[in-house]
Amino acid sequence: WSSETVALVTGANRGIGFEIARQLLLQGVTVILTSRGTEVGEAAAKVLWETGLKVVFRQLDVTSTSSVQTCADWVQQNYGGLDILINNAGVNFNASSENSVEFAEQVIATNYIGTKNMIKALTPLMRPSAAGARIVNVSSRLGRLNGRRNRIGDVSLREPLECVDSLTEEVIDRTVDAFLEQVKDGSWATGGWPQTFTDYSISKLAVNAYTRLMAEKLSDRPEGKKIYINCCCPGWVKTAMTGWEGNISAEEGADTAVWLAFLPDQSVSGKFFAERREINF
Ligand code: NDP
Repeated sequence: WSSETVALVTGANRGIGFEIARQLLLQGVTVILTSRGTEVGEAAAKVLWETGLKVVFRQLDVTSTSSVQTCADWVQQNYGGLDILINNAGVNFNASSENSVEFAEQVIATNYIGTKNMIKALTPLMRPSAAGARIVNVSSRLGRLNGRRNRIGDVSLREPLECVDSLTEEVIDRTVDAFLEQVKDGSWATGGWPQTFTDYSISKLAVNAYTRLMAEKLSDRPEGKKIYINCCCPGWVKTAMTGWEGNISAEEGADTAVWLAFLPDQSVSGKFFAERREINF
């Protein structure tokens, strides 16, 4: 890894994403800090510049396919490709509201579809290297299929997502769409979905499933052109998303994502991590 290594972080104007960008910069790589708001993104970049960290800012809204494509084209033109992609941007409204149609749609569009938009547009740009290019998706333990909290109760909804061999993008999309339909017709509460943090949990469950699917799809790339993709839970972090509650700082919350970006073990792809340890999906 060197200043020739190019990393891009989404939702990096604040919170965990900002810290991921800062910690990547401390490793000496080139970092593109992206944010949907130009003013807040430039302000965040200025904070880093003032500490001597020469970050590059670029506006990017992950829910807009045109914004994502414009950013991908710009990365290609300016850097000739990308080595590390960190999909961190996310929203959560469950602290104040449980699955209104508007919020559920926004949560799925940002956390799941936004992550997918980025992977689809940026994967073709990922450069060949001996270490392998890296994608890290910042997810959540709330999206675990078999977690103690917030498990999907309905086996018919859960089972298709469990087996990576039969997993397809259509299966994941169908699950998410079924949930959104039930939010719209008001029947989600009896649909077998998690009862709390529902839309957020489903968005992250979809991110996790998509991580496994992409790892499988990317696994047959030849030596020297490998792309490793994993997801992680940052822990319960004191950021705007949690109303500054939580038990760790954004600096600590960023740690596993950055560690995954540089993980020397090249057999690791399609896995879920927290506190630098593999955990179950
Ligand atoms: P913050 O709310 O502090 O940061 C979220 C970031 O995502 C902000 O920069 C926000 O931009 C950005 N964002 C939202 N929508 C978009 C969009 N459409 N396009 C681009 N950027 C967008 O939260 P955290 O730092 O806590 O969260 C970071 C990640 O960690 C999220 O994916 C979250 O789900 C995950 N996570 C967080 C946990 C925690 O305890 N904090 C626990 C588990 C997972 P803006 O400032 O414009 O809103």
